[in-house]
Amino acid sequence: MTIFALDERDPAAGAPDVDLEHEGQGERERERVVVCADCGHHISDSAARQPFAEGVWQERFVNPHGVLFSVERYARAPGCVGRGAPSTEFSWFAGCSWQIQLCGACLTHLGWLFRDLAGSDPAFFGLRSDKLRELDCLR
Ligand SMILES: [Zn+2]
Repeated sequence: MTIFALDERDPAAGAPDVDLEHEGQGERERERVVVCADCGHHISDSAARQPFAEGVWQERFVNPHGVLFSVERYARAPGCVGRGAPSTEFSWFAGCSWQIQLCGACLTHLGWLFRDLAGSDPAFFGLRSDKLRELDCLR
């Protein structure tokens, strides 16, 4: 979706002209599908990706076994399937449980679903950057 900036100084200007500069920006931000790097299964889309904090789109975490993961945050990942019971042990996010998430097609370990135990924040997926690929949306 392309969003055009309206000129706020002149509310009577009517329909905005197409601004080529902003159109270029929209081109870069167009929706892309996010697929499993191993099998190509549709996992999520770029519109569902959220920053961990302002401008922070990727975080690195180490699990108790010393394995380093680069993780991206997604509001939804319908291509994943949960595996095992949610746990609160060694959670990377305070107050959140985690549940292992696998690719719904090839069962590669893609990441985790984090749920705020207090229920005040929506659940989110922390997915491994090295196990995802982004493709242009074909439509
Ligand atoms: Zn897969």
